Amino acid sequence: MNDPNQTKNLILATGLSFLVILVWFWLFPPPEQAPSPEPGSLASETAAAAVAAPEPGEPGAVTAEEVSGTLTPAPRIAIDTPSLTGSLSLRGARLDDLALKGYRVTLDNPELVRLLTPAGSPYPYYVVHGWSAGEGLAADAVPGPDTVWTLAEGAPPPEAGAAADPDAGAALPPTPAALGGDPLQGAEIVATLTPSSPVTLTWENGRGLRFTRVISVDDEFMFTITERVENMTGEAVTLSPYGFIAREGREDSYANFILHEGVVRMSDGTLQEIDYPDLPDLPAAEDGSRQEVIEVAQDGWIGFTDKYWMTTLIPEPGSAFRSVARYIPQTGTLQTLARRPAETIAPGAAVEYRTLVFAGAKEWETIRNYQNVLGIDRFLDSIDWGWFWFLTKPMFWLLHHLHQMIGNMGWAIIALTLVIKALVLPLAWKSYSSMARMRELQPQMEALREKVGDDRMALQQGIMKLYRDNKVNPASGCLPILVQIPIFFALYKVIFVTIELRHAPWILWIRDLSAPDPTSILNLFGLLPWGTPEVGSFFHIFSIGVLPICLGISMWLQQKLNPVPPDPTQRMIFAWMPWIFMFMLGTFASGLVLYWIANNLITFVQQYLIMRSHGAKPDIFGNIRAGWRRNRPDAANTPAPPQTQVTLPFPLAPDPDPEAAETGRRLFAGPVTFLKGVTALEALPPPDRTEICFAGRSNVGKSSLINALTGRKGLARASGTPGRTQEINYFALGDRHYLVDLPGYGFAEAPKAVVERWQRLLRAYLAGRPSLRRAFVLIDARHGIKPVDAEILALLDRSAVAFQTVLTKADKIGPAARERVLEQVREALQRHPAACPELVVTSSERGEGIATLRAIIAHLD
Ligand code: GDP
Repeated sequence: MNDPNQTKNLILATGLSFLVILVWFWLFPPPEQAPSPEPGSLASETAAAAVAAPEPGEPGAVTAEEVSGTLTPAPRIAIDTPSLTGSLSLRGARLDDLALKGYRVTLDNPELVRLLTPAGSPYPYYVVHGWSAGEGLAADAVPGPDTVWTLAEGAPPPEAGAAADPDAGAALPPTPAALGGDPLQGAEIVATLTPSSPVTLTWENGRGLRFTRVISVDDEFMFTITERVENMTGEAVTLSPYGFIAREGREDSYANFILHEGVVRMSDGTLQEIDYPDLPDLPAAEDGSRQEVIEVAQDGWIGFTDKYWMTTLIPEPGSAFRSVARYIPQTGTLQTLARRPAETIAPGAAVEYRTLVFAGAKEWETIRNYQNVLGIDRFLDSIDWGWFWFLTKPMFWLLHHLHQMIGNMGWAIIALTLVIKALVLPLAWKSYSSMARMRELQPQMEALREKVGDDRMALQQGIMKLYRDNKVNPASGCLPILVQIPIFFALYKVIFVTIELRHAPWILWIRDLSAPDPTSILNLFGLLPWGTPEVGSFFHIFSIGVLPICLGISMWLQQKLNPVPPDPTQRMIFAWMPWIFMFMLGTFASGLVLYWIANNLITFVQQYLIMRSHGAKPDIFGNIRAGWRRNRPDAANTPAPPQTQVTLPFPLAPDPDPEAAETGRRLFAGPVTFLKGVTALEALPPPDRTEICFAGRSNVGKSSLINALTGRKGLARASGTPGRTQEINYFALGDRHYLVDLPGYGFAEAPKAVVERWQRLLRAYLAGRPSLRRAFVLIDARHGIKPVDAEILALLDRSAVAFQTVLTKADKIGPAARERVLEQVREALQRHPAACPELVVTSSERGEGIATLRAIIAHLD
């Protein structure tokens, strides 16, 4: 990375590859899960698989009878907590009907989000607990997924009138007609499970084994299932309890490329995520299923996670279990299973197991509390932090607290972006500085290239030496940029996954930051009397809202800080990028778009300030105009005007060799006398000597330069007040030269009439003094060539007076600014045929360039 151009290319490449990924996913969305079979056929196949698949005692899925409706529905226990509503079935004590009270399906649809649904519904998703019989024990001697338990203890069911509760009603959506009946309908409710009233279920096998299951729930999303078995058989028995979560199909696609959705499990500190579409690729097991088994020694959990919701089995922290992720191809059923090791229970003894079941929303704070209070190992990792977890975790923390402080998610996102950008400011600063330093070395690099020609080795070594001598680390320019890329993606990810964004309003029409901007340019943001195009229709692509348009503009504006790239391909890419991004990101969540806009605007301000502080003044309007000019097809195709075709280099005048320097020194060390001040052409001395003059705007430092050249402090009057030098002042230098100090042009604090008079004089002098050998035009190094200078230069062109450009007060600017001003001067001089080919940079204060100027003057005759 030894070239600033490469850094630019790197940024460009990163932007482009991101764009390519977006376009790819936009045009070719990832394959969706194979469509779920019709509910009817699914039911019978599921049942078949349940019979065919499991190893001895392994849980199946659903019985044929139950699904086909031949079984009378088992009694149910209502679930009613501050966060949850639903019911569980006494058949297998299945948790298969659960809705989240705090979350609605959409802003306009008051229906609650349904997490768990029973077998027989379109997309079954449920949690089952059972026992496996060990050696010597018949399979029916233990309760399985279909065993109907007996209610032993529990609060009475809600009053009949309670069903009118709007929330409870909303939890049970109308039954799809295709099913021919709601699997929940007609079930008798026998008790209610609430945080203050757990339920106790029992089952006895009639042969001396007595099973008890206590189910309790807290105010949020955690169930606790305590299983107990008492052995009254008179013999030792071996058995093991298990729990599994099963799901078949899902309403929307299973695939997402930004976010993990699928199995998530922790096994003794190792996190594993298996995307839904990857489950069928797991190794084949003997029973025909695909599965991956992990033996957990003491701490772990396993479950399914979606973007915002999750269901997880958590065997009591500290206990060993077998963790299985499985796919059953015959039915498309996905399973996550936690099975405790088989245990032998002595006659008369009893054992007890505790398992936690998380079923709810992935609220960061709730999950963190469970991790800390219940000791669930790394439970927060169930949130998809991504590769950059070390960035996303703290950012998430910050966003959460900003949200709590500010009270509005939209502003919190902007605040977060602001904080992060402030943190990386030193990096951006450093990156810009080192790029500026590299730019300063550009002329030396060019010189080196010319010197070594095709010798790549020599070039390489020369460049390395150049860097070493100037203490430039070529990597430091792009490293900070590389570091900022993960930060950018991490922020993006945080905003994408956080549930706090869901249905969170910002201002005005943004009522849900997790949904795309609802406005559309196609109906002029609601001004025209038609709706927005359907999602998925062709016109939907063009139906961008106000926020995405702001995004495009902010991105375009950001580009305008830099000059239009000269390379046509680069130019075209840059010109299109903001608008392509605008369309690509138009359908993204408005919270994300808001973040991009905030990021672009902050970056814009940041870069502007950094550039200013480095002495560069970004010419935003000029760049915008240049962009338009260059984008016009005729402008792009017509050849450039002739004067820019041949570019003159205008190098710096080289340091004089010792002999020339000595001649110069001697000339100026000799006698210098003030001859006269001239206010009218008639008063000029006869043109009998080699005459050189100094011209420049008022206050450019002309008097100071003459004093420095002659080594006499008070010779020319130097002052801070512009316009004091109002006469053409003649100095006799030795006996062959006149030095002429011309009145400053441009701004002056003299009366208007006076100013006009001496400006006329000045022009007349420049236009017609035959003995004038060379004019030195002084340009303030801080400002470069201004229009008023260019006027004088044009006059010199017309009068055929050769002029040499001298930059003054060079000590007042840094090296980067110096290089930029030189660039501007060189560019401006291209249009002036009378310009001498070499430039001189001076500082009267520090003596820079004085010896060079003396030598040049001494060699004019
Ligand atoms: P004139 O009006 O063009 O003759 O400008 P002067 O020579 O009177 O200078 C104008 C101001 O710029 C004075 O305050 C000088 O001290 C200052 N000045 C001139 N040359 C230099 C220079 O090389 N370095 C710095 N730092 N200041 C300078």
